[in-house]
Amino acid sequence: MSNDHIMSSVGAVIVKTTSRCNMKCDYCYENISAASENGDMPLSVFYQMIDEVNANSKMNRIVFILHGGEPTLMSEEWLDSAVGYAHLRAKETGKTFIFNLQSNFKSISTPKLKKIKQLELNCGVSVDGPGLANSLRGSQDSTIKNIKRASQLGLHISALLTINRSNYADMAYTLAWLDSELAIKVFKANISHSVGNGLLLPEISTEQVYFAQKAILDYFCETEGRGLLEINLLSEVYRYFSGRGKTTLCGEKRCGAGKYVIGVTPNGDILPCGRFDWNDKENRLGSLGALNDDWYIAKLNLFHNDHQDNFAKCEICDARKICSYGCQAFIARSSSKRNIECGPTILRLAYYRQNEGRLRLALDNAIARNILPFAYMNNSDYSDGPYNDYPDSSYPDRAYNDYSDCSSASKVN
Ligand code: SF4
Ligand code: SF4
Repeated sequence: MSNDHIMSSVGAVIVKTTSRCNMKCDYCYENISAASENGDMPLSVFYQMIDEVNANSKMNRIVFILHGGEPTLMSEEWLDSAVGYAHLRAKETGKTFIFNLQSNFKSISTPKLKKIKQLELNCGVSVDGPGLANSLRGSQDSTIKNIKRASQLGLHISALLTINRSNYADMAYTLAWLDSELAIKVFKANISHSVGNGLLLPEISTEQVYFAQKAILDYFCETEGRGLLEINLLSEVYRYFSGRGKTTLCGEKRCGAGKYVIGVTPNGDILPCGRFDWNDKENRLGSLGALNDDWYIAKLNLFHNDHQDNFAKCEICDARKICSYGCQAFIARSSSKRNIECGPTILRLAYYRQNEGRLRLALDNAIARNILPFAYMNNSDYSDGPYNDYPDSSYPDRAYNDYSDCSSASKVN
């Protein structure tokens, strides 16, 4: 084992600020209640987390994603103290801390929006479409109103959408709506898995996922890369034309969970990433202030090495040069234990082969817009894994991160 601290490569921290939420989406990967037993992260835990990451991570640029539960349920005073403290401590070590906030925007006051703007929190908002009937997310009317209100106040909003059984067929309509009605330019479309609150839901099928993703790719080609962009597929198209490129946090066979990213629960437990329940004990790697390296590594290896049957054919698979290998947390927590992202990846490879000319044009135009994933993949200074220390000035968008569950990647030309 090296002498490096267990947190030395951590460049992203998913902060489970609270176990409360004001929604209860059918597919939520958490199991959360309105009045949970554990509640909010005390500031003392937040400060301890900042101190430990600041002291032990060798990364000069660290992204903290304020997650939940629902992070906008935290008071303005809490947000002010937490972010203020973090920046103060970062100054001492010369690091840059970036704060992203991943929210449902269900209910948020104007003073809180102004506080978020003042603290320069980059906002990703979860939204699945224009209020579709039978949505697994429930009504999104208030979310939509609040996105518009936040935009009027000058906040940069990006969207995190979940492809699920209730919205996959309407993707083409949803894209036009995001583009024209919400003026969103960059979003992520993650695939819903049967985990957490949605454990008993059937998994979405390969054909359903591909139907939605094909609509996104068609839109990308039709708009020639000048319209709304979906980050996951944009990165994949880039990989198709350029080879695998640099390591990414979620896109490698052994992803960055536990090494490049950690999740921190409201009571200070450390998890391999954020895609676990706020009170998960099985995957707990330790606690702030009480980390045992050997135990941490053993638990992490157990997590990464489980369910490897999903990858038995990867070495002979043509799609491996574009593949992101699914999400180990979701595979492990699902009832199926399957990598449901495998089948759609193989179908997308066929699409790429059939549409090379259109995709190349769209990609060239998207690259010309100076969108971060490309700067991120190409930067020759890049040498120390997914989170590196090239200065912020090299980022067209300082909000960008490639962790799956945060969509903050705004300010696109
Ligand atoms: S598409 Fe499936 S089989 Fe092919 S590399 Fe990816 S996970 Fe492996
Ligand atoms: S979201 Fe999934 S793929 Fe990404 S780091 Fe976490 S476990 Fe790995």
